[in-house]
Amino acid sequence: RCSSHLTDGSWLLSLVTVATVALTRWSHRHVLDLAAFSREDFATMLELSARFRAIPMGGQRRIPALQGRLVTTLFFEPSTRTRSSFELAARRLSADVQSFSPASSALSKGESLLDTARTYVAMGSDVLVVRHGCSGVPALLARDLEQVGCKVAVLNGGDGLHSHPSQALLDLFTLARYFNAEAPGLEALQGRRIVIVGDLLHSRVARSNLWALTACGADVVLCGPESLLPQGFEQFVSAPPPGQELDPVAQRGSLRLERDLDRALEGADAVMTLRLQKERMRAHLITSLDAYHRRYGLSHERLQSCGKTVPVLHPGPVNRGVELSGELLDDSRVSLVEEQVRNGIPVRMALLYLMAATEDG
Ligand code: ASP
Repeated sequence: RCSSHLTDGSWLLSLVTVATVALTRWSHRHVLDLAAFSREDFATMLELSARFRAIPMGGQRRIPALQGRLVTTLFFEPSTRTRSSFELAARRLSADVQSFSPASSALSKGESLLDTARTYVAMGSDVLVVRHGCSGVPALLARDLEQVGCKVAVLNGGDGLHSHPSQALLDLFTLARYFNAEAPGLEALQGRRIVIVGDLLHSRVARSNLWALTACGADVVLCGPESLLPQGFEQFVSAPPPGQELDPVAQRGSLRLERDLDRALEGADAVMTLRLQKERMRAHLITSLDAYHRRYGLSHERLQSCGKTVPVLHPGPVNRGVELSGELLDDSRVSLVEEQVRNGIPVRMALLYLMAATEDG
């Protein structure tokens, strides 16, 4: 599909070769949760993302890898980055794109989620990117669509507290590139100490990152107050999630819990901070934003506890001055926040390509 259309550029040959091999290795019809990914899957994603990132994408340039394919974004929760990034990624692969908004849809007339999804499949959708406030909805939809014989692939765009695969994959790619820009593969992540600080309790991003980072051999330190990081969270990847019998990764990196941020930062190679998800909090889980920032907020001074310069990541949207200081957020020598956004496009191109490029969809 790719090779017959692309005709110029030194990036082309390696892209076509890598993309063809990646397709033969890929076995996931849907992408719902990174707990199902093997080390080989992560390696494939990193490699293909790097190739897509290397494409000179100035102006209106498109590559015709998904010409004739239709990608539908079904977002039942607000989104600034994920939705537009998926839509841009799909367009750059020459797919057609359709967006669904709950407010202006027939859902308000009582149509079920399954029937809504089937409507888009009937229009020819090959991939449904689904975001929902309830954990498990993309998986249920994928199962129900299969049961009624629909061939569409479902990509989880973030569900409840459960999972946000594309965000964790772009975080992984951003870290791998930071550690080794020439070869951003599994080796770049092996043995790295990554601190994740903040509202882990409500974070689907953190949960997906735990599967991804430990699969790639990183050692993760979790940090936050008990109200946002319950005791036992460090057991998170010790057993596959319900419904999945086996862990596809033979040996994972470690997980450790540390309440004190300065101690957590000692020896860190990178720090990921998470938004306080006020919209999901049912009770007062912190005493005040100021107190939270003093104990768990990142700043240039705070990062000195790492003993060296380390990069800071945040999935966005950021509460400026709460999870991290404005000065740190704007310091492009340390903050990878905009780099994460940029990397989201090639990573989502890789995901969409792997899920939609084969003839049987
Ligand atoms: N944008 C991310 C998500 O949808 C993180 C966040 O909202 O804090 O999960």
